[in-house]
Amino acid sequence: MSSITLALSKGRIFEETLPLLAAAGIVPADNPETSRKLIIGTNRADVRLVIVRATDVPTYVQYGAADLGIAGRDVLLEHGGAGLYQPLDLDIARCRLCVAVPKGFDYAAASKPGARIRVATKYIHSAKAHFAAKGMHVDLIKLYGSMELAPLVGLADAIVDLVSTGGTLRANNLEEVEEIMPISSRLVCNQASLKLKRELIQPVLDAFAGAVK
Ligand code: ATP
Ligand code: MG
Repeated sequence: MSSITLALSKGRIFEETLPLLAAAGIVPADNPETSRKLIIGTNRADVRLVIVRATDVPTYVQYGAADLGIAGRDVLLEHGGAGLYQPLDLDIARCRLCVAVPKGFDYAAASKPGARIRVATKYIHSAKAHFAAKGMHVDLIKLYGSMELAPLVGLADAIVDLVSTGGTLRANNLEEVEEIMPISSRLVCNQASLKLKRELIQPVLDAFAGAVK
């Protein structure tokens, strides 16, 4: 019997995917927040979930270790999308990719020709494209988390990070000075899986599409 594997990250994406799964008649057998299982069965014998780091979702789907996955636009842009079919914006886990600086930092001056600033980010590709399009000279510093700390301890002048409410920025005396792009999560599909398992995958795609507000 043929079966399908869906790669998901826990936390906000898992929570916001539950109603979409329900619309497709899929109910996970465990909650990844409380279970330590990395492979989670469902009420359907032919559907399972694998729980991976958000940034790893495109890789699992690209190589066919998962047939489907759900990943943020931020993650997909850094990955590059090779081997992935991206049929659907699920409009979940919405936030925006922004430039933020310490309150009072003169970002307008730092944006002028001849100026040069240091920017810390996990989003090297998106940041590079954004500053290049503006003709700004920046030195990018790759971080893996807690970008907000970098300007506070002199590692960088600015950060490029995801913002939803702005609460974390405010708590660290930072302010958003530029929106780079809106972010939401998308369904991604392995291109070979879509051809070989169309009869299993298409109904899931249709149910997700119908459930997206
Ligand atoms: P960790 O926080 O454990 O280091 P992570 O940052 O990779 O892992 P999450 O914070 O759960 O994972 O983010 C997963 C995805 O959710 C991101 O790729 C992004 O698309 C989205 N996301 C991140 N932060 C927010 C936010 N504040 N509001 C809404 N969506 C967000
Ligand atoms: Mg995070």
